[in-house]
Amino acid sequence: MVPEDARLRVVIVGAGLSGIATAISSALSGHSVTVIEQARQLAEVGAGLQITPNAARLLKYWELPASLWEAAAEPTKLTVHRYSGQILAHDSTFDKNIRAKYDAPFVDLHRGDLQLALFARAKDLGVTFHFGERIERIDFDSTVVHSVAGKTFSGDLIIAADGLWSQCREAFVGKKDEPIPTGDLAYRIVLTADQISDPDLKALVENPEVHFWIGPGAHAVGYSLRGGQMYNIVLLVPDNLPPGVSKQAGSVEEMQKLFVGWDPILNKFLTYVTNVDKWKLMHHGEMENWVNDTSNLVFIGDSCHPMLPYLAQGANSSLEDGAVLGLLLGHMTDKAQLPRILRLYESLRKSRGEAIVRETFKQRHDFHMEDGEEQKKRDELFLSQLGKEIKGHFPSRWTCPEVQPWLYGYDAIKEVEKAVAENPDLFSQPTPSRSFCQIL
Ligand SMILES: Cc1cc2nc3c(=O)[nH]c(=O)nc-3n(C[C@H](O)[C@H](O)[C@H](O)COP(=O)(O)OP(=O)(O)OC[C@H]3O[C@@H](n4cnc5c(N)ncnc54)[C@H](O)[C@@H]3O)c2cc1C
Repeated sequence: MVPEDARLRVVIVGAGLSGIATAISSALSGHSVTVIEQARQLAEVGAGLQITPNAARLLKYWELPASLWEAAAEPTKLTVHRYSGQILAHDSTFDKNIRAKYDAPFVDLHRGDLQLALFARAKDLGVTFHFGERIERIDFDSTVVHSVAGKTFSGDLIIAADGLWSQCREAFVGKKDEPIPTGDLAYRIVLTADQISDPDLKALVENPEVHFWIGPGAHAVGYSLRGGQMYNIVLLVPDNLPPGVSKQAGSVEEMQKLFVGWDPILNKFLTYVTNVDKWKLMHHGEMENWVNDTSNLVFIGDSCHPMLPYLAQGANSSLEDGAVLGLLLGHMTDKAQLPRILRLYESLRKSRGEAIVRETFKQRHDFHMEDGEEQKKRDELFLSQLGKEIKGHFPSRWTCPEVQPWLYGYDAIKEVEKAVAENPDLFSQPTPSRSFCQIL
């Protein structure tokens, strides 16, 4: 808890997962937090989210309501199939292995459940929310954000948590800065267990596992939600949405045609789909800085490191951002430390966030190979490790011993403890002039 005179007024733009997580973490550190969100309310939008141990441990740390864990599904197995259905990789004790290695679970959640649980916790901690206010301008001299409706919100620090189409980012760079298409789009599908009559599929839904099917230019992922009462499928395919359109209702027929010849199990699932949306997958170039020169604006989440969802790290790394920022702010003893604390946040988070972005593109390369020599070599590597403990580089980073540990093993709380121990001067108190006056 920060002392009273180091207490900041924090204004967070955006009540997505990164915004609310940072609100919790900053409020736990003793700061006064206001969140401004353009939506009129938090709707149960979105579909499934894979929450990996690096973020699951934070949700535990923040003491989210028990109902969140009851709404989760913990996959017991993880399987990668070639698009034909042939098994390329299989971890038959995935849940146990993950808990043993990382001391935290890998769980699948409905995005709405997670967002509402975070929201409830933030409200408990006294965070103030303003819905239906779209921020269009920032006055950096006075640390004030202005909404389209003409309202103003002032503070000591503005946290940009406004996602892919960040207005804060444009205010920071001083020009239009729209996201760039990745060349892929996602079909997102959620089915309920009672919609599914096929006994084989029902068994898959009710017994949580993760399945990937990888093929030329595309892949699919399926996993259970809500303790096996729901099934989430994401289909990642080449983008054919018109330029400038980021989301559109899709045609079920067009979607099914893209997967003709793929595993019959996947196709059986697709016969249950009655409507579907297409989401253009976008990213951004790297920003030079995540903190402005006047140290009153800092970036988190998709506003500064949007990525392909191919490692399910967008939300997970956003929660890490929130944890690190809030915990560092909890070590403040004097407001004058803010510029250096923000720089420390940037040094801890920027290189990791950007490394994860690059890794998601590498995963696309390895999952979307056209049939041919490169794909044959990849599959030989996959199959050489089937049924064994995986060693060395592995084409699925989900179980790769070189990538999984740095993704899932990251502990934001320990990272902050280490950074604080390594920077004793930054957090020392009081300022020399004040103590000198007191002595006099
Ligand atoms: C198909 C797909 C599957 C995914 N699966 C996973 C997964 O399994 N695991 C995972 O970790 N991640 C996943 N992700 C990524 C994840 O959803 C995002 O990375 C994450 O939600 C980003 O959170 P955020 O809070 O930074 O941004 P957002 O969720 O975009 O939130 C931004 C918020 O700011 C508000 N806002 C925007 N502009 C303004 C403004 N001017 N004024 C006020 N409010 C504003 C918005 O309304 C919104 O509420 C997936 C993404 C996709 C597309």
